Amino acid sequence: MKFKGIKILNIADMKLHLINIVNFKSDGGAMFGVIPKALWSRAYPADEMNLVTLALRSLVVETGKNLILIDTGWGSKQDEKFFRHSYLHGGEGLIEGLFKHGYRPEDITDVFHTHLHADHCGGTIGRGVENNSYRPVFPNAVSHVSKVQWEWAVKNNIREEDAYPPENIFPMKDAGRLNLIEKEQELFPGFSFRICHGHTPGLMIPVIRYSEKTIIFAGDLIPTSAHIPLIWNMSYDIESLKTIDEKNAVLTEALEPDHFLVFQHDAKVECCNVTLTEKGIRVKDRLPFSSIL
Ligand SMILES: [Zn+2]
Repeated sequence: MKFKGIKILNIADMKLHLINIVNFKSDGGAMFGVIPKALWSRAYPADEMNLVTLALRSLVVETGKNLILIDTGWGSKQDEKFFRHSYLHGGEGLIEGLFKHGYRPEDITDVFHTHLHADHCGGTIGRGVENNSYRPVFPNAVSHVSKVQWEWAVKNNIREEDAYPPENIFPMKDAGRLNLIEKEQELFPGFSFRICHGHTPGLMIPVIRYSEKTIIFAGDLIPTSAHIPLIWNMSYDIESLKTIDEKNAVLTEALEPDHFLVFQHDAKVECCNVTLTEKGIRVKDRLPFSSIL
């Protein structure tokens, strides 16, 4: 049957692009919480200052109707002092990375924020022309954030204070195109997400159906391939026991055939599939993102 005038979206037309915005460094101990350095440093080597190198990736999802950007990196509003412990280096830049794939900032229809920590949403809002003014970097985009995370970030707390600079958060609302998400759903055809609360309340983990495959953008739930063992978690997590349960659920889902995890922060591994071993769920194959497309 033909539906006159209704465009039936073919999910097979979906295009995905992974952009590494920049690399940065973070304290290795903080990245692996209670795990002794003798163990984590074998899985994810540190430098002489105990720092580990992390990537900072965004995923672009073109559905044929929507051009969705998942997370926007640190952005360019902050000064050197803000980054003095981050040792930014490499990467292709967000706007430059978009251009490389033929997209301009004004083409983005939706920015999907996994959460509002500064390294995930800072690039959504840029500085305006006048002093202390701000502007949306993606002027035609709806900003999606979970309602729980929005309210958490606005209220802020002493533990995550540095992660929520107000200039990242409030201008997003002023721009007038904020969609506060209350429950898990298929937001776009083939694009759904899980809502988690261990890392920070209301963290959203995209799950994308792409050409017979399922791609889980693991975000800060499983930041690197070394974080797959259930208790290998970041000290940054607000509630570790919740992270463990939520990771277990997502990893169990990832055991299904043709399921892949994409890492936002692993400097060496973009993507993997997983397998069940006697020790629990572990990496099966480390893969470049291009190999699963
Ligand atoms: Zn985070």
